Amino acid sequence: MNSTDKIYHLAVPGVQQLIPYKAGKPIEELQREFGLARVIKLASNENPLGPGKKALAAIQAVLQDMALYPDGSGFNLKQALAVKYAVDPGQITLGNGSNEILELVARAFLTPQLEVIFSQHAFAVYPIVTQAVGAAAVVVPAVNYGHDLEAMLQSVTEKTRLVFIANPNNPTGTLLRQTALESFIDALPESCVCVLDEAYFEFVGGAEPINSIDWLKIYPNLIITRTFSKAYGLAGLRVGYSLSSPQIADILNRVRQPFNNNALALAAAEAALTDSEHLQKTIRINALGMEQLTSGFKNLGLEWIPSAGNFVLVDLQRLAQPVYEALLRKGIIVRPVGVYELPNHLRISIGTTEENQLFLEALADCLQDV
Ligand SMILES: *Cc1c(COP(=O)(O)O)cnc(C)c1O
Repeated sequence: MNSTDKIYHLAVPGVQQLIPYKAGKPIEELQREFGLARVIKLASNENPLGPGKKALAAIQAVLQDMALYPDGSGFNLKQALAVKYAVDPGQITLGNGSNEILELVARAFLTPQLEVIFSQHAFAVYPIVTQAVGAAAVVVPAVNYGHDLEAMLQSVTEKTRLVFIANPNNPTGTLLRQTALESFIDALPESCVCVLDEAYFEFVGGAEPINSIDWLKIYPNLIITRTFSKAYGLAGLRVGYSLSSPQIADILNRVRQPFNNNALALAAAEAALTDSEHLQKTIRINALGMEQLTSGFKNLGLEWIPSAGNFVLVDLQRLAQPVYEALLRKGIIVRPVGVYELPNHLRISIGTTEENQLFLEALADCLQDV
């Protein structure tokens, strides 16, 4: 080891061992690598329609104020969210993406003596924020690719301070029943904080609507996280939020940076909340695209995991990495999920009808060639 590498030993133990989050490949990077004119990205669960008109107009309107710091309390956006979800503004915490909220929770509640429970195949940010603060991760094996709530409950010890649940889960798209979820939260000791990550809740249709906000009245240890990155099409601006008891919001507020949301993000998110037309269109095109992709998989003889989100995991029944790379050469970026212990699956974000079609054609070719 040379002397500059010794610097690594100065980092705290969790950070020394940390493997950084690997994001979907950016479009421009693939264009540079292969000299491609058109690249389709179905890799990061972004909104294929882009941001709505109202969000874009709000951004234009605040551009001239960029010399000023943003409102560090996020007053207007919190008011709008409070009205929409019938909560008190004091129950809301805004984050630089909901990822920041996950990190704030870890910093505020964890020490190296404490344990964190989450499921196998659950969102990759949970192990990262846990390890960064040196807490112990307890990973509970999944059932049918989803959370095994019973086994998770049995894993609770007096050292458990935090549980992460993603519903729907990314990358599997699995959805827990609301009744099962509430029973789980009810059975958790109050000394254990429960983060319910609902990054995709807008896409959940079907018979059992999401009613987790009602539970906030009963469980002061519950934190619901949501985002403007997925259904609202504002991933590039980085804005998410949590709903919790005012006490937990107060705790999170103590560790956040004073201006963690930029002014463009605050204005765009507030406007996006009023654009129900864009949201409904997004949900509609997602349902259509899900049908289109899964029919395509069926025609190719492939199985998939039924998904409640804006993405779907397809089982290639062989190592997915070579197929992922072959798709890249054709200008299509999807997401390999080997880091989630799913080496034979690819995660496909739902695109526009045209993007989905081009992807399915490319996939059929790649499965022949590779
Ligand atoms: C995308 C995603 C998030 C957060 O994304 P942000 O852009 O940071 O808001 C959180 N949880 C899950 C499960 C996600 O897939």
